Amino acid sequence: MPRPLTKYDLYRWVLRVCHATGLHGAFRSRTCGLGAILMLHHVRPYAPRGFCPNRILEITPAFLDAALALVKARGYDIVPLDEVPARLRAPEPAAPFVAITLDDGYLDTIEHALPVFRKHRAPFTVFVTTGFADATATLWWLDLEMAIAALSEIKIELDDFAFAAPTRTDEEKTAAFAQLYATLRAGNEFLLRKVVAELAVRAEIDPLMTVRSLCMSWDELRGLADEPLASIGAHTLTHPMLGKHDINIANHEIADSRNIIVNELGVEVNHFAYPVGDPSSAGPREFEMARKDGFLTAVTTRPGLLFKEHADHLHALPRLSLNGLFQSEAEFEVLLSGLPFALLNRGRPLNVG
Ligand SMILES: [Zn+2]
Repeated sequence: MPRPLTKYDLYRWVLRVCHATGLHGAFRSRTCGLGAILMLHHVRPYAPRGFCPNRILEITPAFLDAALALVKARGYDIVPLDEVPARLRAPEPAAPFVAITLDDGYLDTIEHALPVFRKHRAPFTVFVTTGFADATATLWWLDLEMAIAALSEIKIELDDFAFAAPTRTDEEKTAAFAQLYATLRAGNEFLLRKVVAELAVRAEIDPLMTVRSLCMSWDELRGLADEPLASIGAHTLTHPMLGKHDINIANHEIADSRNIIVNELGVEVNHFAYPVGDPSSAGPREFEMARKDGFLTAVTTRPGLLFKEHADHLHALPRLSLNGLFQSEAEFEVLLSGLPFALLNRGRPLNVG
């Protein structure tokens, strides 16, 4: 049976049509803006797996190398995040720019991404979740993947929540993950975490081992912070969807994560990334909190490029995801043109509501 089409198949088709027809180039001057903030998660060699629902969050070192070579060949400056506000406010735009960000603080940044950043002399910012560096918070989306990979059936009833699906084949696992992930993401985060914790127990997965094996410890972060190209940003204590929580919890997660990083690493922390970062996780309330806390910028996962209008919305900046599903220079070039984002955002430079 053929695999059912997903929204990503549609995106890929749009990107390829744009590239093949040159459509992205025709509108480029109106859609490319001043620059882009690139968003990365894992950078590591490709490992084939039939069931890999989080593939979107990883790119290969070779693709990172090709993407940075491409932006340089197109005349972009690669700038630190600290420089982004001035670039947005400049009366006469200089060369277009990209800033590079990596979320969560994965260990593969040191092994696989850093050599590429050094090769291109590319500054980058790593957004650290302090509970990942402590190995006290959990990467629930990866635990959910690992639990479904290990189990041949999911049957769960917790509080008012019930879900059942066979998970024998890769196709069944992919379908179950998609449905469970969408349902849990749309609801209350306490329930989400409880369901994933229960599935991890059944699959005999230790979520603290997951985080310990994948994320940088404070010692490793201290080594990274000494790297002249690196800067460190904050990404909360426990990686919650801030918009779903009480204002006091959200404030504590934002402000205290910065304080802990400053104490542990002895560095300035000028930038913040909202975990998950979509409108249900980060909206005007969170933008205002990050501004009041004195961060220079804060980044979302809303897709988009940067325009001069963003100078007045420095705590609601969109990003261009270097996405594991679109790892070709052609697709990246179309994304960098801004046309897909102009279509997604219906032509508006800003998406900050
Ligand atoms: Zn994150």
